[in-house]
Amino acid sequence: MSVPIIKSPRAMRQWTFEQRCAGRTVGLVPTMGGLHEGHASLMRESVSCNDVSVLSIFVNPAQFAPHEDFDRYPRTFEADLALAEGIGIDAVYAPTSSSMYGQDFASYLTVERVQDGLCGGSRPHFFRGVATVVTKLFNAVLPHRAYFGQKDAQQCAVIKRMVRDLDFDIEVVELPIVRDADGLALSSRNQYLSSAERLEALNLSKALARGLELMQRGERDIRRIEEAVRAELADLDIDYVAVVDADSIEPLAVAQGNVLLAAAAHVGATRLIDNVKYTFPESAADGFPRADSRKREYAISAK
Ligand code: AMP
Repeated sequence: MSVPIIKSPRAMRQWTFEQRCAGRTVGLVPTMGGLHEGHASLMRESVSCNDVSVLSIFVNPAQFAPHEDFDRYPRTFEADLALAEGIGIDAVYAPTSSSMYGQDFASYLTVERVQDGLCGGSRPHFFRGVATVVTKLFNAVLPHRAYFGQKDAQQCAVIKRMVRDLDFDIEVVELPIVRDADGLALSSRNQYLSSAERLEALNLSKALARGLELMQRGERDIRRIEEAVRAELADLDIDYVAVVDADSIEPLAVAQGNVLLAAAAHVGATRLIDNVKYTFPESAADGFPRADSRKREYAISAK
């Protein structure tokens, strides 16, 4: 039997009510389609941890500025369906634009401070669009759990804060970045890259691996970490390189605690993002004297 495709919030809620009435847990994997192994990892986790799982596919106009790539964003619906079905997704929520943003739509959500730095600095419209659409997806799908990728680490931080602040009864699960064998983080936008650009794009993960290595060796001077990453980014057109607190996405005086090292750069006409996370061991110098709790969370292994 083929997977049902649900196109309106009302029909989606009806489907979920039936699942919940039958005592089933519901997982949600929100995407914009153009699916790849990164999305597949989220779907697999949802399928293995919930009784039923919903994949949403919606290219959200509210998170694109007029000059951005909304029109050319990869739309591969049939292939996406086949992948989802193979993984065991139980329903695909693919709302129409008009059912999501009716005439006179006027209500947008902002998550102050968390959305301001990094991508929020260069794409001021972006997180307002993301927080709004994720709220709408949550209200339609009513999931118990929702799955997001660390690839969009600031997006995860925004959604976690929003869920906490607004009392959504949803567990947000953040999963590691899936990469190609050479380290390039998978992204729907990688399809835009020529083979020469793809080679250049590899500098992004290499540069972040260098930053990670410095932090693992104990470097806590943020300026030095950022400069080392910038130096490795060579000829790329850098949008930002930043070390921030991984939960609040706010600047740090010195690298400590849970740290996010994130970068964005243009490769030709394509804007790519990538990041690594690192948890510094707590020490007396941090003001938190405790036994060694060294916990390393990184998706790129620094060589
Ligand atoms: P998108 O379709 O790009 O909006 O992404 C949908 C979800 O997939 C988001 O939670 C992303 O963070 C996640 N995602 C995208 N690329 C990757 C990747 N390479 N590894 C893990 N998750 C990813």
